[in-house]
Amino acid sequence: MKKTAAFLALLFPALLFPACRQQQGGQEKRAEGRAVLPAQSWEALGTICTVNAFDEGAESLYGEISARLMEIDASFGVNRPGSDIARVNASAGKDRIAVRPDVFLVLKTALRFAQRSGGAFDPTIGPLVSLWGIGTDHQKVPSQSEIEAALAFVDWRKVVLDEADSSVFLEKEGMALDLGGIAKGYAADEVIRILKERNVSRAVIDLGGNVCVFGSKADGSAWKVGIKNPSDGGKSVAAALSLPGGLSVVTSGNYERYFVSGGRRYHHIIDPKTGCPGGGSVASATIIAASSMEADAMSTTAFLMGRDAFLRAFPGTSCVFISSDGSISSSGDISLNKFL
Ligand code: AMP
Ligand code: MG
Repeated sequence: MKKTAAFLALLFPALLFPACRQQQGGQEKRAEGRAVLPAQSWEALGTICTVNAFDEGAESLYGEISARLMEIDASFGVNRPGSDIARVNASAGKDRIAVRPDVFLVLKTALRFAQRSGGAFDPTIGPLVSLWGIGTDHQKVPSQSEIEAALAFVDWRKVVLDEADSSVFLEKEGMALDLGGIAKGYAADEVIRILKERNVSRAVIDLGGNVCVFGSKADGSAWKVGIKNPSDGGKSVAAALSLPGGLSVVTSGNYERYFVSGGRRYHHIIDPKTGCPGGGSVASATIIAASSMEADAMSTTAFLMGRDAFLRAFPGTSCVFISSDGSISSSGDISLNKFL
């Protein structure tokens, strides 16, 4: 891996915030009795979730969003005792477990992407995620025999779903689901659902790199979402997308969680074929799509498959790839301003 494999990629809406704050101020004057809500952040799904509704509204909007994020966190968290995912994992090889409809839906979607990606995206990656422990106090480079032992429990085809009772069964004891590659996207879609129900007209959501722009900016101009520069740890912006509202921009890169050992960087996106951090020379993969859940699954997939193989499996998808040498390539119907 090259030195620049400091791989980073994430989107951050920093570029659009200044412009929007000004609008917010303007709205404040016009709002007459209805307060313009400041942005709010919560810790959930292993990241910081920020919602900025640039709109007059009620405090209870954020209360509802926060409650829904916490609910999703409690159902999807692998390490949350009693979560649906933890219960399914604890019953692997033994019992089928009825899960909440939202967990069932996300898992079903994850399996669809597993199939389409030929197993690059695999929601049964849990044993390998635990083995590497990236971002935890037990992170380490495992031995090859440990990797092979964990790989024996990673196979999305051994997940049995039953629509009749929303149940999930993992065929082999030792298997473990991990929906970390898709759950944030689902959560972002849920935030959008709440915003729509509350008639919020414009907002930006950032769930640890899953950025959604919702509605139209007050001045009618395009939203701008930056893609972080992998080579400097995301301090600078590598490129900026100009987007209409209603799209999600999701980046997978290796800057978010990694450790360095023996001069090599080990990140959190695991190739289910090798059992090791994957992606080769891809530093980040960004997907732009209407569904944040699908964009999330695809960004993880795209990172692992690389541009050409990804576009063969998912033709027509709007995406931006940044390589570890700093080159940027994009595909699809997007307006991209490159800064590298
Ligand atoms: P993301 O940041 O969306 O690319 O997701 C990375 C997270 O997805 C990791 O922290 C793991 O929880 C999980 N993950 C890692 N490798 C895979 C994989 N091959 N397929 C599906 N999920 C994965
Ligand atoms: Mg993802």
